[in-house]
Amino acid sequence: MKKHNFNAGPSILPQVAIENTAKAVLDLNGIGMSLLEISHRSKDFQAVIDEAVALFKELLAIPEGYQVLFLGGGASLQFCMVPFNLMNKKAAYLETGVWAKKALKEAKFFGEVNTVASSADKNFSYIPKGYTIPEDADYFHITTNNTIYGTEIHTDINCPIPLVADMSSDIMSRPVDVSKYALIYGGAQKNLGPAGVTFVIVREDVLGKFERPIPTMLDYRTHIKEGSMFNTPPVLPIFTIKETLKWIKSLGGLAELEKMNIAKGNLLYDAIDNSRMFVGTAEKESRSLMNICFVMKEQYKDKEDAFMEFAKGRGMIGIKGHRSVGGFRASTYNALPKESVEALIECMHDFEKQNA
Ligand SMILES: *Cc1c(COP(=O)(O)O)cnc(C)c1O
Repeated sequence: MKKHNFNAGPSILPQVAIENTAKAVLDLNGIGMSLLEISHRSKDFQAVIDEAVALFKELLAIPEGYQVLFLGGGASLQFCMVPFNLMNKKAAYLETGVWAKKALKEAKFFGEVNTVASSADKNFSYIPKGYTIPEDADYFHITTNNTIYGTEIHTDINCPIPLVADMSSDIMSRPVDVSKYALIYGGAQKNLGPAGVTFVIVREDVLGKFERPIPTMLDYRTHIKEGSMFNTPPVLPIFTIKETLKWIKSLGGLAELEKMNIAKGNLLYDAIDNSRMFVGTAEKESRSLMNICFVMKEQYKDKEDAFMEFAKGRGMIGIKGHRSVGGFRASTYNALPKESVEALIECMHDFEKQNA
């Protein structure tokens, strides 16, 4: 039976990226050795990382003055590296979910943290608006897509101070005006590649602004100077990212992908909105195009487990909602085909016909 992979992360990747990674694991470019057994400093691997960086810059139209890094430690290490490198005395954070809270918690080790606005009052079901960004803070941190709650900041906001964004779960899902950000980071395992690598896009002029001793590995300048090769980088995930980016380019780039993502999102949100049984959990204008969260209406609550079983029987994988929201979450990342969304909708309709 065909599986429909709605996993939230690690998650579905383009089939061609997986196949080409598998080939490179057996024999990289016909050199008679595996990607796994060559030096990261060999010309064969240097070409891989160079192409990954070049594609990152090309697809996101990254302006001059920015560097693209591939590091270890996950997005979670960035929660501390960002304040270590950018926070002198004070930082501002937008609290839109669990990941934003975790980022905020790390920043508190380095100074004063101003929570500019929070949507905790409604279980993070919306993106706050109408807040004021304090101009005396060193930077403002946002989480563009809240993977757990299914909310997303769809536009690049104007920010009077350096803007830092965790884009773990919506990077490369739409064009982004990188010039509005000082730093963008994320774990690759949602929309780009396998677990094990973190991407960082950083504007070099925001670094080295004040005196704080920074351990070598936690200093962005180390990794910029060494081209992400101060230590051994995660070679296999970087290879897969390169393949994913080639696939994105072959489809026409981020503007095309955005159209595809909007089409998939509209299909599923329409089905939820028109359903007698299901209801979305995020406020309409804050809804994510990457993680679509829904529950059963109050009168059908006792049918949630039955639907999970029913959906499993139809090949639906990974649609259980995060425990802090409950219900269901369908992650509709770039690589998820429209057919999988259609199959889920049919599954919901059929269950509804039988049970409501
Ligand atoms: C998954 C996720 C993280 C955590 O990423 P790790 O690479 O596991 O540290 C952080 N932020 C967001 C928005 C996420 O979705």
